[in-house]
Amino acid sequence: MHIKPAYLFDLDGTLVDSVYQHVLAWKEALDEEGIELSVWRIHRKIGMSGGLFTNQLLRETGLEISEDRVQRLRQLHAQAYRRQAGSIRPLPGARELLRTLTDLEIPWAIATSGRMETAATNLAALGVDPGLVPVVTRDQVKYAKPDPDLFLAAAERLSVPITSAIVVGDSIWDMLAAARCRALGVGLLSGGYGFEELHHSGALLVYEDPADLLVHLDEAGGRQ
Ligand SMILES: [Mg+2]
Repeated sequence: MHIKPAYLFDLDGTLVDSVYQHVLAWKEALDEEGIELSVWRIHRKIGMSGGLFTNQLLRETGLEISEDRVQRLRQLHAQAYRRQAGSIRPLPGARELLRTLTDLEIPWAIATSGRMETAATNLAALGVDPGLVPVVTRDQVKYAKPDPDLFLAAAERLSVPITSAIVVGDSIWDMLAAARCRALGVGLLSGGYGFEELHHSGALLVYEDPADLLVHLDEAGGRQ
């Protein structure tokens, strides 16, 4: 029996070079709410569900968590992020990697913790039309990463069993979500997490960026 591979990609830090823009957009949103927080603390939580992210930050800073405030932060972040749209670029090799998978007839999809209000900017930079390619955003599932719902929904869109899927992500939240749904986790360093962190959170293979994964595609199940 041959298990046909399928790739489920995270978006920010995995296919597009956008992690630091997100960090700074959150910094701007938090500043506007009068919440003092170091940039590195924000970076550590990028890639997880935005709601979980704000809850954790507010809890750690001992501030009141109201639904109003969480919504306000979310909107301020989305506005600040969209102002940086001009600086968002695909990561090296991202477009080539997706094109190669398509040429090899290997199914792939995108599953992001972001909402379409910010993901649209990234998809435009990447040249991906969500009308043609399966893209699952935070808007479509109840829980985002580190819950596995986004990847489960993406596998369903491709009609592939989640256990034969390869989850490619840059953050520990992607790897934890992959482990929870028994997909193979593959980490990329292009979002700023280190090799050890990705490996410890479940990545069996770790590459630098999409270009590096493309060169090693046959190691990670990328055969026709
Ligand atoms: Mg990411």
